[in-house]
This record gives sequence, structure tokens and C-alpha cells, in this order.
Amino acid sequence: MSASGASHHLRLPSVDSLLRHAAYQPLAERFGRDALLAALRQLLDELRDDVQQRLLAPVEVSPEVLAGRVGERLASQHRSHVRRVFNLTGTVLHTNLGRALLPEEAIEAVQMAARYPLNLEFDLQTGKRGDRDDLIEGLIRELTGAEAVTVVNNNAAAVLLTLNSLGARKEGIISRGELIEIGGAFRIPDIMARAGVKLHEVGTTNRTHARDYEAAISPRSGLIMRVHASNYSIQGFTTSVPTAELAQLTHQHGLPLLEDLGSGSLLDLTRWGLPAEPTVRQALQDGADIVTFSGDKLLGGPQAGLIVGSKALIAKIKKNPLKRALRVDKLTLAALEAVLNLYRNPDRLAERLPSLRLLTRPQNEILAQAERLRPTLATVVGEEWTVSALPALGMIGSGSQPVARLPSAALCLRPLTSKRLRGRALLNLEEAFRRLPIAVLGRIDDDALWLDLRQLDDEPAWLAQLDQLHMEGGAG
Ligand SMILES: *Cc1c(COP(=O)(O)O)cnc(C)c1O
Repeated sequence: MSASGASHHLRLPSVDSLLRHAAYQPLAERFGRDALLAALRQLLDELRDDVQQRLLAPVEVSPEVLAGRVGERLASQHRSHVRRVFNLTGTVLHTNLGRALLPEEAIEAVQMAARYPLNLEFDLQTGKRGDRDDLIEGLIRELTGAEAVTVVNNNAAAVLLTLNSLGARKEGIISRGELIEIGGAFRIPDIMARAGVKLHEVGTTNRTHARDYEAAISPRSGLIMRVHASNYSIQGFTTSVPTAELAQLTHQHGLPLLEDLGSGSLLDLTRWGLPAEPTVRQALQDGADIVTFSGDKLLGGPQAGLIVGSKALIAKIKKNPLKRALRVDKLTLAALEAVLNLYRNPDRLAERLPSLRLLTRPQNEILAQAERLRPTLATVVGEEWTVSALPALGMIGSGSQPVARLPSAALCLRPLTSKRLRGRALLNLEEAFRRLPIAVLGRIDDDALWLDLRQLDDEPAWLAQLDQLHMEGGAG
């Protein structure tokens, strides 16, 4: 409590007198008079009780101090909610952290598309109205061998639109082993139902044979669907029908075969030492009539869903009114074209496409980086932690290759406190990293906080903010 006798008569200044004060002019200028007024009223309301109970010294309600507080309040209200973070979780294509990072070429294309009018649906050759899918059709044909393409908001939309266009009011035949759920709200049976396709499941969870599909085909059938079980793996006593064989059977009965590849890839990833993923070209060559895949998973581009396949079926899909509801915007198309362009030169792809560059960073390089940064981090967190540079295992993410692990390296922070206090100390540390200006996100595992450095590209920015790490109550 203030010792001064004046505190008995302490009064909050009036809003009007404050607004006339010089300290408030820059705030009015920057945030607008209305926002300043609202924030000031709110602050004074909050202080009223404390003033009555004489908990505040006169200086605490001086115009200058109040200006500082209201300025902080306005600044924090104006802070963007979309924020950059450091993804040191070890999962490269992290759905919650925005998946693929775009290459410079795509960022420039997005800027151009954001800043200027463009030929989104205008054919510059003929001067007539164009189709936005045409902007990337040539590239897709070249890179996948598909006859035609249409692009929608994401792969979930691609699956929904394809099913609805080709199978509404008919039966969709699919193996029980492929009735999967992907990250939260996307489940194949639910999407089928919403698409108006009646689910006809065949086979068993671990084994489905050609004869199972054959027995299910009837005049009610509309299509056969295959889903690449990207986020789980069935091992052991399993059978599935190869796409080529399934396509033959499907076509014998005059039905289309859809293949949802999920991540899909335009190139064979094993050439970079990554686990094999089915390629879009191979699925089409094997006889899938339509293939769907994501733009921001292994492709390394913007969020989008690509639907590729035969001219006739794509034309049918494009006529569906749902396509208009699910179409992509100009920024996405601009980025997608730039990314696809990079695939024309596979030899340089790993240096130009950030997701592929990060996925293929060698473990020894990451470990050397961890060893280099270890002493600095150890100094920052203090004596209550042991900090080690250790090999670690990461993941591709986004449901790609859930079983495969990426050999990586991490800074491992282990509390030296008693076992009882360890959990709390780790949570405090995790929170302190999360509260940095650019949040640093790692993972807690085995009584330690792991910062996987595979994706630590911007070392200067990471180091520059480390001195702002504030831990509540330290490690103990
Ligand atoms: C990821 C995935 C989807 C959904 O793709 P989004 O681009 O996230 O909408 C659909 N099917 C499969 C098999 C997937 O792996």
C-alpha cells in the first residue's frame, strides 16, 4: 500500500483528460481513437476496485503509466493470430503446423497473384473465357501421364467430389482393410455416405481377394475404390489385390476404378533414400481411372486436392456443381504451378523443394548442428538441466509412411530434479519455449524435452530469441 497520505484521495483520471494528454496521441494515431477509447475504459474499470481499496500508488495511475499499459494492451490485441513457429517436433509434414513449406518460386508466384490481376479464367491466346484448371493441365499431363486434371481445396474434397460425381445413388465397392480414418474428421465411410454413395465393403481387415470384389459387382455398382492406407500398416498375414489386377476386373464390368493415394508422389522417392510411396503415374499406368492426392503432403506444395485421370471422367467431375463449391483460389494455383514446374528437373528437386530438402537432410549433418548448438542452449537453461545432442527418430508426417522413421538428431533437455518434480519441470520448459516470440515446438518423451533439429533452418532467428526464455520457478 502506498504510504503517502494522498492515497486517501487517490482518484483515477477521467477518460477525457487522458485523451487530451500528449502521451495518448501516438496511440490514437496508431490504433485509432475508438480502439484507444475502448481499451482505456476497460483498463480504468479494472483499476477502479484497486483504487478504492487503496492498493495503488499515485504514480501507478499517472497518465504516462496508464498510457504505457493501454499501449501494451492495444499492441497485444493487434498481434496477428497467425504466427510463425519453429517446428522441432521431428514430424516434417505436420498437419497442425501447416504441412509443406513452399519453395521461393512458389512464394514469388503467390505474391504476383496477390498483387496483380491475372489470367485465372481467361485464355490469353483466344481472348475468350478460360478454365482455371487449364493453367496446370499441361504440367500434370507431362508429370503423371494423366489425360486431364481438376484441382480442389484439398484431397478430402477431391475424394468427396469424385465419389459424388461418379457414384451417387450407386454402390461403391471397397475393401474392409481400406475403410480408414485420417487425422480427425475424415473417414472413408462417412465421406462416401455424404457423397451419396452406398458403401459395399468386401473382404476382411487383413485379406481381400479378387473374388471378393467380383462377388460384390452387380447392376447397382457404380465404382470400385481403392484407398492407400497411408496412416497405418497391416503386417503379417495379409492379401490385397494389386491395382493392375483390380483395374482389369473393374473394367471388365464397365466400372471406373478410383484410387485415393493420399500423399501420393510424382516421383519415386527411393532415389533420395526415402521409403517407397506409390507414384501417381504408376497408379494410372496400372489402370486406375481416377487418382486423387494432396498438394501439401509429399508433393510439397500448397493445400490442394488433385484429381487426375481420363478426359471423360474428369469432364464429368468438372460438371458437378460441387466442383464450383470446392474449387481452389488463384494463390493456390499460382503456388501449385510453380511447385509442379520444379518437378520437371528431378535432379535439382531436393535442393529447390523445401519439404524434400528437409526430408533428405542427412543425420550426421543434423547431429553436427545439434552438437554445435548444445553449449549455447545449456548456458541458457542453466544448471538444472542436462542438455545433450543425440540421434533421434522423426517422421514424414501427414499420414505418409507411419511406420517409417527418419533418422534425425535432437537437442535433448533432461531435468536434474527429483523424479517427483520432473513432469512439472518439463511442462514449464515446454511452455517457456512455446512462449518465445517465435514459438519453439518440440516433443516430450521419456522424461525429456526433445528439439529435433531436422527443420531448424533459420538458426540466427532461433538463437537471437533464446535469451528471452523465461522459466517459471526454474527446473525445480
Ligand atoms: C491425407 C489423406 C486424405 C486427405 O487429404 P487432405 O489433403 O488432408 O484433405 C485423404 N485420403 C488419404 C489416403 C490421405 O492420406
